[in-house]
Amino acid sequence: MKVTEHIEKAKGTLFSFEVLPSLKGKDIQDLYNGIEPLMEFNPSFINVTYHREEFIFKKLNNGLHDKIAARKRPGTVSICAAIRYKYGVDTVPHLICGGFTRDETELALIDMQYLGMDNVLALRGDPVKGEGHFSPEKDGHAYASTLVKQISQMNSGHYIDDEIVEGIPTDFCIGVAGYPEKHFEAQNMKTDLRFLKEKVDAGAHYIVTQLFFDNQKFFRFVDNCRKAGITVPIIPGIKPITTLKHISFLPKTFHIDMPEPLADELEKCKSNQDVMKVGIEWGIEQTKELIKFGVPCVHFYTMGKSEAVKQIVKTAY
Ligand code: FAD
Repeated sequence: MKVTEHIEKAKGTLFSFEVLPSLKGKDIQDLYNGIEPLMEFNPSFINVTYHREEFIFKKLNNGLHDKIAARKRPGTVSICAAIRYKYGVDTVPHLICGGFTRDETELALIDMQYLGMDNVLALRGDPVKGEGHFSPEKDGHAYASTLVKQISQMNSGHYIDDEIVEGIPTDFCIGVAGYPEKHFEAQNMKTDLRFLKEKVDAGAHYIVTQLFFDNQKFFRFVDNCRKAGITVPIIPGIKPITTLKHISFLPKTFHIDMPEPLADELEKCKSNQDVMKVGIEWGIEQTKELIKFGVPCVHFYTMGKSEAVKQIVKTAY
């Protein structure tokens, strides 16, 4: 079922979460171990991220280094199919612009269609690690908005391959990313919202946000979206902070702020256990407030660790 159908049928705020594909060479059971503790809360859908290649430098016998492209977390679409098969829950594969030509995008969407997937989250993707800016493939998409347009066109039966006449229309529910604290490359919030609206006008059916810790920023973002004429459902994405490392990693990686009261509590923490306790308490209050605000769904970023999310969902819903 489509994400938007889940939202339309819901009587209250839904619960969903995101997982990362296992590292190449690891057992898929590792991934299931992160999913299983959350199944008792009946997630409406589970997202699976997409990870493009990274460049690694291998030392050669002559002392020089060889630059090698490697994908460390493959299998997004097959993992979505495996999760649906095993748990009977809807899945949302992430599809990015980076590393894909338009033709390859079309082929990926055909695979998803054959596997009976109703949803896709359309993203640009970050620059390749070590490169300062995002570069699309030749004939690839430079922004998520044109990727959304391609999916919408397939939903109308128009394929890139012009030999296809009367192509079977796909029927994907398309999600896109939104940033309550602004995407890090955007000049300002106003231009970022203009480009977000471009994605919705291109055919996106709903928005999922970047993680944030300050609900007031999310509420302001929703208000600004509505004022800009964006009417689709907006799903907040949140992540409990669980380790000492997260305290600097999350703001740096996701370009987000820690509200002062949270930062003050984290400053007192001496161990990962202390951080986890603070993170769970903050997550419970954050989720309760979002539910009270009437969000259609709270989407949790698990990054493979489900214990904190479990505690939050158990208490907040
Ligand atoms: P876009 O919407 O294309 O925006 C990128 C930047 O370009 C923004 O600054 C925007 O303001 C600007 N822009 C947009 N259109 C134009 C235009 N026409 N002209 C000029 N500027 C423009 N990354 C992954 O690699 N894999 C994942 O699985 C993944 N999952 C994610 C899930 C969520 C919910 C979120 C929020 C992010 C995820 N990301 C993922 C990260 C995402 O790919 C990055 O944040 C990326 O830098 C931007 O992606 P986007 O789709 O928001 O890009």
